[in-house]
Amino acid sequence: MNTYDLLVIGGGLSGLCAAVHAAESGARVAVFEAGEAAKYPANSRYTGGVFHLAFQDIHASPAQLREAIEAATGGYCPEGMADVLADQGASAIAWLSEHGAVFGKGGDFPFMSSMLMPFSLREPGFQNHWPDKGADRLLDSLEQQLLSFGGAFLRGHRAKRLLLEGGEFGGLQVQVGEALKTFSGRAVLIADGGFQGNAELVRRYISPRPQDLCVRGAGTGMGDGMLMAEAIGARLVGLDKFYGHVQCAEAVNEPSLWPYPILDVVASAGIVVNAEGRRFCEEGLGGVAMANAIAALDQPLSSVVVMDTKIWEQVGREYLLPPNPTLLERGARLYSAPTLEALAAQLQMPGTNLVQTVHDCNLAVDQGRADQLQPPRRHSSTLLGSAMHKIDQAPYLALRLSAGITYTMGGIAIDEQCRVLNTEGQTIAGVYAAGAATGGIEGGPRSGYVGGLAKALVFGLRAAQSVIDACAIKPV
Ligand SMILES: Cc1cc2nc3c(=O)[nH]c(=O)nc-3n(C[C@H](O)[C@H](O)[C@H](O)COP(=O)(O)OP(=O)(O)OC[C@H]3O[C@@H](n4cnc5c(N)ncnc54)[C@H](O)[C@@H]3O)c2cc1C
Repeated sequence: MNTYDLLVIGGGLSGLCAAVHAAESGARVAVFEAGEAAKYPANSRYTGGVFHLAFQDIHASPAQLREAIEAATGGYCPEGMADVLADQGASAIAWLSEHGAVFGKGGDFPFMSSMLMPFSLREPGFQNHWPDKGADRLLDSLEQQLLSFGGAFLRGHRAKRLLLEGGEFGGLQVQVGEALKTFSGRAVLIADGGFQGNAELVRRYISPRPQDLCVRGAGTGMGDGMLMAEAIGARLVGLDKFYGHVQCAEAVNEPSLWPYPILDVVASAGIVVNAEGRRFCEEGLGGVAMANAIAALDQPLSSVVVMDTKIWEQVGREYLLPPNPTLLERGARLYSAPTLEALAAQLQMPGTNLVQTVHDCNLAVDQGRADQLQPPRRHSSTLLGSAMHKIDQAPYLALRLSAGITYTMGGIAIDEQCRVLNTEGQTIAGVYAAGAATGGIEGGPRSGYVGGLAKALVFGLRAAQSVIDACAIKPV
């Protein structure tokens, strides 16, 4: 006799929404959360709280949302998955509102129309941006609702192994302190948030030097879910890309410099170069794509944004929690020189290369052919970035960069019902995954970002509904 209908791995937004929806529908549910503290760390607690789809208002028409997802991911997101997000985003927001979320308009951009209140990210740095803000309150509220529907929420329970019986899910091994305990259930949902916290996996799939990345989030995604799923034959997809932003290099060791200010918009207005003074990424694809390109360098911390005074004074003061002057007040170094040669000398990079790179870019702007540069400079209005500016007003300026990694986009392959797929493309009975633990929705050649919260919410609810249907759960 199974003690539970659904075992949920991870108490983030995805896992908790699934758990509450299943429990309110009559299922016996237990959530296993590795964190031990009352305010256990999770990206869902530290989040900015903006529910958007590919930087569009989540309440836009499904056709508009589908188009934006297609454009952002360059077609990487399969149509069926894009349909689920576009068709169900708004109703999922309504469900969340009925379950304790308070939404407000977080800013002038349309994509900020549904942001959790009280708003987070109203001051720079990690320490104060999240406590008692909308997402923090929401996780607490969802946990209480789960308990009120008779569910269990077990802190300090780290899932370790999926057990199959006759090819179907049979049980879950969980580490509790030094002990390993086994829980049985009819279905399991893997919602452990990705593998960004596992340096070895990050080294294998994303960056040769994970120690040089800024862990721009809770860092709790250890890849446990993905490894457990792989061990029972699941297919893993799109492991080389992550959601993140361009941060200053000093942010790697300084929590007051992340998650904001970010340098996405400044970096895409200027140019990003490597230690040789040459461009290596498409700045116009926005901050997520740039962060991925920086992380993939042999030496991620060798990357630099080069700009001039007008970019720093204008673009540098735009957007949410702008970098100018906050970064400098918090200890980041702004390199400044009267000539590009002198700037290159300060940065210890070949001056002739940097001069040539800037000259080529300025000429391309003048001639309106930035898309023919190598790498090209295209600009998509659906992404967080800027059109390229000329760099021609001394003093010339530069900041050293790092890649901020928030969550990994790749992971466990699922179908549209959140059923985990094996390497042959067949479902593994009773095994589901949702949120940042899954792959194949975001990523691809453009590091296409669709929206971590929308993905966690929509697919979390969807996974619960699949379990309710598969197990014929009836309200009690
Ligand atoms: C600073 C910041 C700002 C962000 N801003 C936005 C935004 O504005 N809009 C947006 O769309 N997205 C944003 N995101 C991303 C978004 O918050 C996440 O994509 C989303 O919350 C992921 O939810 P999840 O439930 O999949 O994973 P998580 O929230 O990561 O939850 C996973 C949980 O699983 C637990 N866990 C891990 N391993 C195990 C295990 N073996 N056993 C048991 N438990 C385990 C973890 O402790 C964690 O509690 C932001 C993230 C951060 C950090």
